[in-house]
Amino acid sequence: MRPDILNPLFAEISVLKGIGPALARPLERLGLARAVDIAFHLPVSWVDRHLTDELDMADAGRVIGIELTPVDYKASGGARTPFRVQATDRYGNYVSLVYFGKNSGWPRKLLPLNEAKFVSGKLESYGETLQIVHPDVLPPEEAGSVPSRESVYGLSDGLTNNRMRDLVAQVLARAPDLPEWIEPSLLAQKGWPRWREALTRIHADPSDAQARERLAYDEILAGQLALMLVRQSSRRRRGVPIAGDGRLRAMLKLPFAPTGAQRRAFGEIEGDMAQATPMLRLLQGDVGSGKTLVALMALLNAVEAGMQGAMLAPTEILARQHYETLRKMASGLPVEIAILTGRDKGKVREATLMGLADGSIDILVGTHAIFQEKVQYKALGLAVIDEQHRFGVAQRMMLANKATQAPHLLVMTATPIPRTLTLTYYGEMEVSKLDEMPPGRQPIQTVVMAATRLDEVVDALARHVGGGGQAYWVCPLVEESETSDQAAAEARAESLRLRFGEAVGLVHGRMKGPDKDAAMEAFAANRTQILVATTVIEVGVDVPNSSLIIIEGAERFGLAQLHQLRGRVGRGDKPSVCLLIRGGALGETSRARLALMRETNDGFLIAEEDLRLRGAGEVLGTRQSGEAALKLATPEHMAALIDPARDDARLLIERDGGLDSARGQAARVCLYLFEKDAAVGLLRGG
Ligand code: ADP
Ligand code: MG
Repeated sequence: MRPDILNPLFAEISVLKGIGPALARPLERLGLARAVDIAFHLPVSWVDRHLTDELDMADAGRVIGIELTPVDYKASGGARTPFRVQATDRYGNYVSLVYFGKNSGWPRKLLPLNEAKFVSGKLESYGETLQIVHPDVLPPEEAGSVPSRESVYGLSDGLTNNRMRDLVAQVLARAPDLPEWIEPSLLAQKGWPRWREALTRIHADPSDAQARERLAYDEILAGQLALMLVRQSSRRRRGVPIAGDGRLRAMLKLPFAPTGAQRRAFGEIEGDMAQATPMLRLLQGDVGSGKTLVALMALLNAVEAGMQGAMLAPTEILARQHYETLRKMASGLPVEIAILTGRDKGKVREATLMGLADGSIDILVGTHAIFQEKVQYKALGLAVIDEQHRFGVAQRMMLANKATQAPHLLVMTATPIPRTLTLTYYGEMEVSKLDEMPPGRQPIQTVVMAATRLDEVVDALARHVGGGGQAYWVCPLVEESETSDQAAAEARAESLRLRFGEAVGLVHGRMKGPDKDAAMEAFAANRTQILVATTVIEVGVDVPNSSLIIIEGAERFGLAQLHQLRGRVGRGDKPSVCLLIRGGALGETSRARLALMRETNDGFLIAEEDLRLRGAGEVLGTRQSGEAALKLATPEHMAALIDPARDDARLLIERDGGLDSARGQAARVCLYLFEKDAAVGLLRGG
């Protein structure tokens, strides 16, 4: 249960004054639903108000505060022309105070002629004259109350900075003074303010580094505490020690020998699985490093010991592909492998469920459907989760809670996760790394080309296909609309068919399952040579003969996504090419991203840079999965504060009497504040 003291913060924003339907939309777009969301909607920058007594053309563009005297009104001449109040400074320089809207009564009342006022707003030059649009107006004697620094917030259409400031002020007035959770000596050493003061200070002055640091620390501490609680509870869980005898693994007939890294990783997994404490291991390996084989070995280890294994993929396409790959690799082995996705219905589904319950199915591959309530395993010993970045802590916990005896858990990710993030999100997991690529990999050459050269691109594609190659053509992401992604892909397929006819296949997220399968199969079997696709092929798709990938609208993709897409090629024995097609005018960031892609193939470097450019939440895809991402802490905060936060969390849990002590009670408040509810739920009696 959330502590009562937080109630005012977790109230809906409708309790605030002045929230009408017009504001509801923009606030929703910004994800601001409760008072606490507004409290943590920190200003992104600020403007300093220039206090002056003389209007000066040179100040155009600045926010000024000045004493003015209204001398004349210029009524609105029509619907489009605003009402203007002519005013002068003490030296007789003119400025025009501009009011849009039909009603001139309000500005007339606000600014009576010949009465000095303190006026503040952004000074603009409009032709030869100076103007201020919708200024703030105060009696001159209140000029001293105007802050010289004004916070600037992230906004959305229909929400002005002034409205935002007003909402923040209301929330701050409601904000309780929370009990202190930070270790007293650390608090003193850093000179940090208390929580409420920090929040108030940062909204008043976004440059207040100390206040910001304190709030970032709170967030990092909450994350560390949550991880420790999860770890503690998973340590308490009992699992089944699994030690296969190697009989099935010995029967594998592979066209290659495992790499040293694959052997090492599997050795670590085998060691974990032999313990009664359920394994929690992250297998980290760049795209193409061969994680699937490691997964298969672990699954076979479970089957050898008479247990079942399950493998979860993030998408339908990937589930099908894993199913095919595992069956191919395990052909000739007495192992029953089945697939279950949301698409399987009726008799087939029933049969699969039966097979799982009676143990005749050894390995189940599928999408989230495989961990639904109705799915009962006879003896689930190992769960493998592919492509971690779509699968969060909350889901991991749900899975662990499914069986009375927690299954061993292997999580595989291609996103190389920087150290600070590993500690924040996966701190309860052990890590194995595939830091060695299978031999014989050909480099991928990355080229950036302007969209104006599309004809050349199509010619290059023709040469590539003519020489027996296959290629992906990825269509640009169209923001906020799946339908238009689809339309773009369909249109591209149409135009390529004019030249390449039946060689062109198409796959996108809106297609019916069987059609998707058919398109993927046709491409995998080289019945089609060009696969036009949306980002549905982003993760995991493995067609080694495809050695060219063309990514249209490359500037619209994130770095990690581009790296994933590029990872679709370079899987066979031919050198591969990645063509990044960019649109017209590029911003600084897009330019930097594409340049980095051209320069490096190192997933780790790319991930670090991605983190810097986008922030932690997006890198991990936690925003999509609904898990609270880092709201305040920057990568710099992480680097500086993670170690003290870990020490502090440990001290709290292990030495200072746990979360029942006085400081522990405060820490609970902090956990709820950052919505680590699930972690608090793990506390005995919590
Ligand atoms: P990822 O780590 O991206 O999931 P995959 O498991 O899909 O990588 O493997 C990529 C490709 O490398 C596959 O075609 C796979 O058959 C091949 N492969 C995996 N291990 C080896 C190895 N030890 N030697 C050669 N090729 C390998
Ligand atoms: Mg994979």
